[in-house]
Amino acid sequence: MLIRNFIGGKWVNAKGEKTFSSLNPADIRLTVAEAPLSEQEDVDLAVGAARDALAKWRLMPAPRRGEILFRAGGLLIREKQRVGELVTEEMGKVLAEGLGDVQEAIDMAFYMAGEGRRMQGETVPSELPDKDCKSFREPLGVVALITPWNFPTAIPAWKIFSALICGNTVVFKPSSDTPACAAALVQILEDAGVPPGVLNMVCGSGADVGEYLVTHPLVDAVSFTGSCAAGERLEGLLGRMHRPLATEMGGKNAIIIMDDADLSLALEGVLWGAFGTSGQRCTAASRVVVHEKIFDTFGEMLANAAAGLRLGNGLHKTTDVGPLVNEQQYKKVLDYIQVGIDEGAKLVTGGRGVSVGGSVNGFFIEPTVFTHVTPTMRIAQEEIFGPVVSIIKCVNLDEAIKIVNDVPFGLSSAIYSRDVNTTARAERDLKTGIVYVNASTIGAEIQMPFGGWRHSGSGHPEAGGRGGALDFYSRMKVVYRDYSGRLQKAQIDK
Ligand code: NAD
Repeated sequence: MLIRNFIGGKWVNAKGEKTFSSLNPADIRLTVAEAPLSEQEDVDLAVGAARDALAKWRLMPAPRRGEILFRAGGLLIREKQRVGELVTEEMGKVLAEGLGDVQEAIDMAFYMAGEGRRMQGETVPSELPDKDCKSFREPLGVVALITPWNFPTAIPAWKIFSALICGNTVVFKPSSDTPACAAALVQILEDAGVPPGVLNMVCGSGADVGEYLVTHPLVDAVSFTGSCAAGERLEGLLGRMHRPLATEMGGKNAIIIMDDADLSLALEGVLWGAFGTSGQRCTAASRVVVHEKIFDTFGEMLANAAAGLRLGNGLHKTTDVGPLVNEQQYKKVLDYIQVGIDEGAKLVTGGRGVSVGGSVNGFFIEPTVFTHVTPTMRIAQEEIFGPVVSIIKCVNLDEAIKIVNDVPFGLSSAIYSRDVNTTARAERDLKTGIVYVNASTIGAEIQMPFGGWRHSGSGHPEAGGRGGALDFYSRMKVVYRDYSGRLQKAQIDK
């Protein structure tokens, strides 16, 4: 499949000849797509097209913009199977999750289409007669959107649909691991009737075109999801430019399991949180903090269950866990497994890169469980982003909460307990943007804000409406209208 850039409503070649390949991580002999390694000139064209389109798009009534998103949602439903399979082929997650990725984009399309008829501001009484006060939302302008590979349709959809409904125009730079999924989404938006120039896509390297795009003088705001290293670099660059930036970055999410928990339910939650998407979710459960009374029992249950998971191509019905996305991730995860062994954690299952079906052409790593991990070990502190989970012992709830909070990240956490007093204290004291009770660390729904605290994000959440994405992609303008026909002085006239 040959991908081109999408600029000013047309699929166009990049100025240069260079391309890159996205490979099927379950079998890297298969190329999924070739895409352009764009250059700065391509970014200039895309930003120029977005700027030209802004004047008209920002004045289109938001409910009309919503109708376009509503049509996009319908097209996504029609194309769900095809795009879901493409997600699995291009980044490796099992098909049920590939379809879930597309479903999240569908949910987001309809939710944001509805926002076109809400997008509330406020009207409040004035302290003076014959005067009123109101606020309403205005778009930011041209927004640059930078996305990772692990949710190759859902995360672009979170950003693009929120940006568009608020009246912004967009330049989108997808991850180089998933350009085909990005192009499929953009095609659907074109088919739904997004006018030329309102949405543009430029493929290419993060360090080169990504950084050039986000610092471009004609860009007004940036939303980034990806690694801490890249996000923190952008925070430094854009802070100096006084440019609004939303970042969603890494995580070191944890599940607490108390001694009164339903252990079978907790086991299912840990398996899903740790090994779903091969552990490549920003909300993946990579630590399990287990009460000492059930530590040995639960460790054994988890090791046995993890050893029974079947690795393979995500398109095959028998597969529980797919490959890692690329060689860099594969090596990084194997390195972390070695770090865990060297630190003295006990490897109870997994730990190896494996060949599947006699083929060494995919990036498969066995679901891996470490026990007797201490909270300060590197494998308990740093994001691994692979199918590796560490079990840490605690003596009570206070210690469990301290262990969960004592990392630089603050994205997602969970607690399993049958005691409402215990779970209520955890809800209050866990320092993460998302807390789950008797459910795993993954599984956010789009109608709620999604965002990490501390090193996990800048505090401008994705998804949701007010209190979520709308608050980043629009800004409030306040209008005071005086129809008294005389000078009135706030705070002075009584
Ligand atoms: P990454 O940082 O390598 O890349 C993310 C995107 O940023 C890519 O499109 C890349 O090309 C671009 N990029 C890289 N350097 C850039 C720069 N200097 N300027 C502009 N753009 C640049 O991350 P990844 O490997 O694609 O994704 C995995 C990471 O994403 C993990 O750390 C994961 O936790 C995080 N993530 C976070 C969330 C969240 O919502 N918190 C969701 C998904 C993934």
